[in-house]
Amino acid sequence: MVCTGCALLCDDVEIGESDCRHACRIGDAHITSTTQIEAMVDQSPVDMDTAIESAAKILVSAEKPVFVGFGNSVTEAQATGIELAEKVGAEIKTFHTGIFDDILDGRVKTCTLPEVRDYADVIIFLGCDPMNTHPRLLSKYAYYPRGEKRQHGWEEDRTAITIDLRFSHTASICKEAYTIDPNRQIEFMDALMDALSNKVPKTTYDKKRILKLAGKLKKAEFGVIFAGTSAPPRDAIVRLMDRLNESSDFRLLPLAPGYNLRSIAEQLRNRPGDDGSGGNNSSSNGGGTNLHEADCILCLGFDLMNSLPAHGINGKMIVIDPNETLTSRYADVVIPCAAGGIDCAGSAVRMDGEPVEIPPVRESERLSDGAILKRLLEVV
Ligand code: SF4
Repeated sequence: MVCTGCALLCDDVEIGESDCRHACRIGDAHITSTTQIEAMVDQSPVDMDTAIESAAKILVSAEKPVFVGFGNSVTEAQATGIELAEKVGAEIKTFHTGIFDDILDGRVKTCTLPEVRDYADVIIFLGCDPMNTHPRLLSKYAYYPRGEKRQHGWEEDRTAITIDLRFSHTASICKEAYTIDPNRQIEFMDALMDALSNKVPKTTYDKKRILKLAGKLKKAEFGVIFAGTSAPPRDAIVRLMDRLNESSDFRLLPLAPGYNLRSIAEQLRNRPGDDGSGGNNSSSNGGGTNLHEADCILCLGFDLMNSLPAHGINGKMIVIDPNETLTSRYADVVIPCAAGGIDCAGSAVRMDGEPVEIPPVRESERLSDGAILKRLLEVV
């Protein structure tokens, strides 16, 4: 089966009678989870038809609807969600797809995960902690495995470095870790760029360490930066990539929550009239309409309240999700759906652009999110 616990979409997971082999702890919990939510309207249980009708009513009367999420849906459901958004005039906010846009635009070089395994000698985990978000990244691709040109693996052939706001679990197994102040991320990036240009950086960070780091990065034969959700702003990352590529060869891959974010980034960009600027009623990093201005927020597989304080949300809330979330507890309408790769089939795009077919592992009575969105599309 293909695990949809994160964007690595591991395809070697096997389900036994009572176990789940090769999955990491996140994948195991994701695959074996049996907690399901009930259809609800105003926090009271209802049947599915009533929940879908109530959601449709909210959508048609909304003047500033916003759809958020999309990263935990199969590609086909995302396409229906885009159609629905267009029909009701909703803005789509995907969050954390900005770096995918930079990659798809050709603003930065990227590579595939097998290329990381085969060639990468310097790996930077920038604002990310894959041990806790993409747990098999290090064992399958980024650090431990032997690759075509990296026969000695992490002991001799690879240098892994974390640059993050805190000393994470990933930092604890890396050869070097830099902990940076959340308010002085740009200062660190500028200092590193100065050091890469052989200038003594003007910074309150340890100059000698930054110069040493720059020296190491310049010697990389095939460097990879994995950028996560607490990485510095995109423009700073792109500037760093440009500077790095003046003297060595660096690629960028984003590590974001959601197993199918790359697919939604691709689909939003491929819409007619989209110039890649985040126009066409979509935004990748929370830009566009402020969520507190929206009079209806549809959360598709996304726990909005886990990332935003509830007082910032004033509109009616519709949740379509396989699991109970903090947001579903407060939503006006909750519509439970099947989960991609568990009881719903479809396709997805791995974080490095590889298309993956996702078969279901068990049957269930639950409607897929794609089927729910189609029903909404028919009635709005
Ligand atoms: S690393 Fe991600 S895709 Fe692989 S088993 Fe773990 S959660 Fe699933």
